[in-house]
Amino acid sequence: MTVQTTCLRKKAIIIGGSLSGLFTATILKSIGWNVDVYERSAADLDSRGGGMVLQADVVNVLRKVGATISGELGVSSKDRVVFDPQGKVLQRDKAPQTQTSWSLIYSNMRQHFEDKHYHQGKTLLNILQHKDSVSAFFDDGSEVNADIIIGADGGRSTVRKIVSPTSKTTYAGYVAYRGLINEKDMPEDAKALLGDFAFASNTRSHILGYLVPGDNNSNEEGSRYYNWVWYRAVEETTELPDLMTDNAGKQREHTMPPGMLAPKWRNKIYHDANALLPPAFKAAVLATEEPFAQAIVDLTSEKMVYDKVLLVGDAAFIPRPHTAASTAKAAANALALGESLAHVNSYDDLKNALRKWEKPQLRLGNYLYQQGSRAGNYLIFGG
Ligand SMILES: Cc1cc2nc3c(=O)[nH]c(=O)nc-3n(C[C@H](O)[C@H](O)[C@H](O)COP(=O)(O)OP(=O)(O)OC[C@H]3O[C@@H](n4cnc5c(N)ncnc54)[C@H](O)[C@@H]3O)c2cc1C
Repeated sequence: MTVQTTCLRKKAIIIGGSLSGLFTATILKSIGWNVDVYERSAADLDSRGGGMVLQADVVNVLRKVGATISGELGVSSKDRVVFDPQGKVLQRDKAPQTQTSWSLIYSNMRQHFEDKHYHQGKTLLNILQHKDSVSAFFDDGSEVNADIIIGADGGRSTVRKIVSPTSKTTYAGYVAYRGLINEKDMPEDAKALLGDFAFASNTRSHILGYLVPGDNNSNEEGSRYYNWVWYRAVEETTELPDLMTDNAGKQREHTMPPGMLAPKWRNKIYHDANALLPPAFKAAVLATEEPFAQAIVDLTSEKMVYDKVLLVGDAAFIPRPHTAASTAKAAANALALGESLAHVNSYDDLKNALRKWEKPQLRLGNYLYQQGSRAGNYLIFGG
């Protein structure tokens, strides 16, 4: 079907209904655009990310879309503490911050976007650009049309594969083992020592951990989670495929969810914790029944605008998690897009606005990519 319209309808299709998709959808809605989100997952997305550091641009999106910011948006910590492998405190600095969770931000944002415009169980297969519009095609045979399509479909973005087939993620040479444990299941000594934002390094090993909201986004003491992230070098061709083969024998690409790690790798995590971690972190890792794992990858982009198709969030750039800024970058992409599109009334306006939006967003993505690579290479490989 070829659709040709002459006037701008202010209609956007967003592919991907995770954080980046919801930030962009709610911001565009706030400036009067008609927005529909298409998410591959048929059920509500669950807490796959665990914890994250709360950054200003995420709060700015919440404020801008009128989300009630009642109470705390996470757990506060005052200090950053670095332990040596024996557990001696090497450094303690004042660094007040808030740790939140993927679920808390997702549920807040999801409440601010109407169900009737959030379409689940829709996997994008293809995109066709026309003179004055663009169409998306889904796996159920359906097709929708709008002024723009925004790819917020994450690191393995289908939208990116369509508009920029050669751009790919590259493995950084290490993985993040991760764990979430109920605060009340933390051994008492470990809980006392790890109350702040804590770090420890060893050979090809860097761990950090902090408290995050618990079930139902609770910040009550005793009902929170302890979230740890342990970076370890894992060889790409021999070890990584084995680590990414789950306990049912299925080969996964970059992510091993909780409960699916093969027993051999779970035991290796416990074994290595005994050998490499200071006592408090060792206790937290050993108390984690279902550690999970994620390969750390890099992604950069030379463009974020391909005529009427845009890339935002992880679909465009994946800075390494040491920046703690990927979600804030997704929020910044959305806030800037809202400002750029606030006054467009024609296709020419739209074209100019997108060109102006793209430049600083590319700069931000590249800056975080470089900062994250430098930090990661230094922390894990010492160079
Ligand atoms: C170890 C680790 C720690 C991290 N810690 C932090 C942190 O402290 N702070 C921080 O800011 N960030 C952190 N991040 C990054 C953060 O999780 C993401 O950057 C952020 O959630 C933005 O993701 P996104 O919405 O762009 O993509 P995603 O969350 O990947 O969402 C993409 C969505 O698109 C959907 N989708 C995919 N393909 C299709 C398709 N074809 N059709 C329809 N839908 C589709 C998917 O189902 C998914 O819901 C961390 C990441 C890692 C790996």
